[in-house]
Amino acid sequence: MVEVIGFGLAGACVALQLQRAGIQVRVVDDGRVGSSHVAGGLVNLVAGRNFEPSWEVKEAWDVALPFYEELGDHLFQSVPILRLWRDEKDRRKFERKREQLGSWIQKVDDEGVTWRGGGWLDCSRFLKIAREECLKSGGEWAAVPRGGKQVWCAGAAGLIRGDFDDVAHRSAKGEILTVKIPGWGENRILNRNGWVIPIGNDLYRVGATYDWDHLTSGPTEEGREKVESLLRTFTDRDFEVTGHVAGIRPIINRSKPVVRFQEGRGWMVNGLGSKGVIYAPRVGLEMAEILQE
Ligand SMILES: Cc1cc2nc3c(=O)[nH]c(=O)nc-3n(C[C@H](O)[C@H](O)[C@H](O)COP(=O)(O)OP(=O)(O)OC[C@H]3O[C@@H](n4cnc5c(N)ncnc54)[C@H](O)[C@@H]3O)c2cc1C
Repeated sequence: MVEVIGFGLAGACVALQLQRAGIQVRVVDDGRVGSSHVAGGLVNLVAGRNFEPSWEVKEAWDVALPFYEELGDHLFQSVPILRLWRDEKDRRKFERKREQLGSWIQKVDDEGVTWRGGGWLDCSRFLKIAREECLKSGGEWAAVPRGGKQVWCAGAAGLIRGDFDDVAHRSAKGEILTVKIPGWGENRILNRNGWVIPIGNDLYRVGATYDWDHLTSGPTEEGREKVESLLRTFTDRDFEVTGHVAGIRPIINRSKPVVRFQEGRGWMVNGLGSKGVIYAPRVGLEMAEILQE
């Protein structure tokens, strides 16, 4: 029996991968809204300013995509991502990397480069389905940790508390808006300094802010203004804000997940950063392989 503490993306993937490896699990989650509940769910395989594929992204996504597909129809929505040019210099930077990025390029034109293979995961639905799946496979739920072999998947809360010794973190708060833009009809994910994800019924998720200094919970007026300004860089249409959420990304080494053991404490799986959707299923598998030995 292994106790998994925290049931966000990390804990859910660890728990399910342990069960698939034949290990019994007991989940302990304090029911607070972790970053997995608010995440945009974006999967952008070539993110960032410099057109660099994310760290081991192909290997991680080769594990993650079938994992999500097996769990539920349409949990992951494959959507082309239009990375808009910032300026001519940006476009020239892309041209220098173009050959290396070939397998991800769907189209290049004056608007930008369209990536294939990306999309978004409905993270809230994933957590719900993962819980059902875990219970169905004999997983137990407990209100407080009981001890034994433990895997701490406590996200930013655990990093801020310092659950494990000597883990330096640079966690970052982020805020996201859901907006309604009747008649816009944009069905690609747009990306430049931030992103806009079409989620259906004229609704779009827009994000996200980064704040390393104020790791408080809850949305702020300042965050809302920042995301509204960001949205205006993508469209001049009128919009209505229908939702506003905030969370804290657990960042240790950029978005590289960290698996760590500490005597007397157990295992830690944390540091999914801004790319939990891509990396969580593979780090869950890594944890299962370690505990199977
Ligand atoms: C605004 C924002 C936008 C984002 N957008 C994206 C995106 O588009 N794509 C992407 O891939 N990633 C995105 N992320 C990042 C993603 O959310 C994280 O990488 C991921 O959710 C981290 O998952 P986690 O399980 O480590 O942490 P969490 O989701 O925080 O889960 C940890 C869980 O552990 C529980 N817990 C903590 N301590 C205890 C304890 N002592 N006992 C019991 N339970 C405990 C918490 O309550 C929580 O439920 C975004 C994050 C933010 C904040």
